[in-house]
Amino acid sequence: MGVNFFGIKLRSKESINKQFKVAEFADGTPISLLIRVVSGLKEGPLISMLGAQHGDEYNGIVAINRLLDQLDPEELSGTIIAIPLSNPLAFYTDECMAPPSMGYRRLNMNTVWPGDREGLLTQRIVSAIWENIIIQSDYIIDFHDGGRIIICRYILAEHLKETDRQVVDQIKKLYTLFGQGVPVQFLDHSGHHQRMGALTRLGSLSIQAGLIGIPCIMAEMGGGLRIWEEHVQTAVQGAKNIMIGLGMLQEEPVGHDKEQIVAKESAWLRSKHGGILYNNCELNEIVEKKASLGVIKDIAGRSIEEIFAPYKSILTDVRYQPKVHSGDWLYWCGKIE
Ligand SMILES: [Zn+2]
Repeated sequence: MGVNFFGIKLRSKESINKQFKVAEFADGTPISLLIRVVSGLKEGPLISMLGAQHGDEYNGIVAINRLLDQLDPEELSGTIIAIPLSNPLAFYTDECMAPPSMGYRRLNMNTVWPGDREGLLTQRIVSAIWENIIIQSDYIIDFHDGGRIIICRYILAEHLKETDRQVVDQIKKLYTLFGQGVPVQFLDHSGHHQRMGALTRLGSLSIQAGLIGIPCIMAEMGGGLRIWEEHVQTAVQGAKNIMIGLGMLQEEPVGHDKEQIVAKESAWLRSKHGGILYNNCELNEIVEKKASLGVIKDIAGRSIEEIFAPYKSILTDVRYQPKVHSGDWLYWCGKIE
């Protein structure tokens, strides 16, 4: 099949489940990535799948392993290369990002693509994944969830004018194939180059892969430091639906009859005050403009803030942890036209 990585040449019908060293801790302990590969009997696309770029997101790890356990090389056309845990440094500490004690600076892995092979630990891990796996991929599915504080269910399709010229049609194809009525945040970073938050998003895997012509979607399923069976099932089926649509599996897709909302405008609603958040809404609920999404009460139980939808929206992220400080993320509203 002509697929090489970490010095290995893959043969067809081969499955690999192996650790590859990418760096070392101060005491010499190796830092390794577990790579799982299923290489099909027949020719076909190469899809890379990444889980847990953020160390507090467990649903992608479970979804990737469940999917790969189900794949039979005899029945597969093409290759899946999967990294269930892309950021072992952050995973050790249950944090989104590795602490400064593991590489001087706290770096969000999904802002430093394509990495730096001579950089800090997080940049080295990213560089190893990029050079060995990403650049030879035809498609990428990057699994995330809401991490410590949020639960979510949506596809994040990040794009820029520069990536649109190369991959926008393929990105639309990927999220449509994923299906199951999972809403899409079709997030345009063009024109936001000067804003610090958006600037760092230019270093995301999906933007950097898009710039070299490889379509990547982020499947954001679950969160809150726990496994959600329903979201894992959706993630697994979505990945299988994509494989079926690309001719890699001879099965029937599931859930393509469900309507999929694609939001091209969105708003992250944040708290003004600190307190305890009481949700009045559900994940993926469609709410009208000015609908009450939640109330913040102070520690004496007095209502001090109510949060309203800015427009008719689908809620792709909902706060899971009730304790909020000023400025915390509460709800992500995708505008319904
Ligand atoms: Zn994430």
